Amino acid sequence: MSGFGMEGIVHAFGSQPVIAGASLDVAEGELVCLLGPSGCGKTTLLRLAAGLERLQRGRVVIDGKVVANAADGRHVPPERRRVGLMFQDYALFPHLTLAENIRFGLGRNSAASAFRVEEAMARVGLAPYAQAYPHTLSGGQQQRAALLRVMAPGPRVLLLDEPFSDLDVNRRVQVRESTLDLLKESGAATLMVTHDPEEAMFMADRILVMNAGSIVQSGTPFDIYFHPADAFVAELFGPVNRLPGVVRDRAVETPIGRFEAPGIAEGSPVDVLIRVEGLVVMANGAADGSPPVAARVVSSRLLGRSSHLGLRVPADGGDIALQCRVPGIPPLGPDETVQIKVDRAQAFVFPA
Ligand code: ATP
Repeated sequence: MSGFGMEGIVHAFGSQPVIAGASLDVAEGELVCLLGPSGCGKTTLLRLAAGLERLQRGRVVIDGKVVANAADGRHVPPERRRVGLMFQDYALFPHLTLAENIRFGLGRNSAASAFRVEEAMARVGLAPYAQAYPHTLSGGQQQRAALLRVMAPGPRVLLLDEPFSDLDVNRRVQVRESTLDLLKESGAATLMVTHDPEEAMFMADRILVMNAGSIVQSGTPFDIYFHPADAFVAELFGPVNRLPGVVRDRAVETPIGRFEAPGIAEGSPVDVLIRVEGLVVMANGAADGSPPVAARVVSSRLLGRSSHLGLRVPADGGDIALQCRVPGIPPLGPDETVQIKVDRAQAFVFPA
């Protein structure tokens, strides 16, 4: 098989376990994002794939060849794995211009290469800086040049660690898009590390969510967002409302409605998680289907493109606090009453 895979990887630094049994594969032409919080082991997994770290358990396969196998000590050195590597501490040669840095990546076959340096630079917004030296450029510009240098020789496998971390918000979308096009055209199997869920959603064909050394879910961006495997995955995308309850008749009752709890045993304690964007505030209390719930506004803050509302809803044991995010400016001020509904696609029930 072309592409790249890791099987049964277990790794520790001294007595500290870091990778707790991880397997993954990336097909030719596929872009897979490894998404998880700081310290969960993403970079370590990439270093093991690249051969910068020796395997303690498991195997690494590139284009059908076993390049590392803990069982028999096989360890093809990084430079012979034919992978393109870009780590967070990428370094451009200070005495070469950006164009020269990228051309360096082509190596001895530069004349025969299909990679067109000028065109690639133009596409990621670097054309004006072709003759500039790295120290005169921003971190984001250097980072893009480093990525093109890695892509220049046309590796079949690319391993990228946070390649857009130095870009400002406005450049990010544009650069991600043009880089994504280049990556897709290259047909390489790409494994990209990020801790930014939005970046993973934007870039990935498939997202691998990592938590404490394990891959806890693998799925398309749609799956990961709308069918999170557990509370950890659901909460990756930002704050949630958490309503505790108990499963009765395959559902859980809360002050803001009843939620199905398929596959969870009767009597189990559960949490209903509702994304802040999953609480819908209705302008005129107009109901469509299930009845809305009255809530009192306790705070409202404009965040820019959206607003944050703090709400309270009456419940048996006293009010419950909820938060929600609504588009645009806050529609209402404190002490006003609103009608809310839950967008069921953004509500999840998990064992507590
Ligand atoms: P970040 O997003 O912050 O880069 P990460 O998910 O990439 O985090 P890793 O860099 O893989 O995480 O680190 C995982 C754990 O392994 C951390 O607790 C880190 O301190 C530890 N670690 C990483 N490299 C080494 C090393 N060479 N020696 C000892 N411990 C290490």
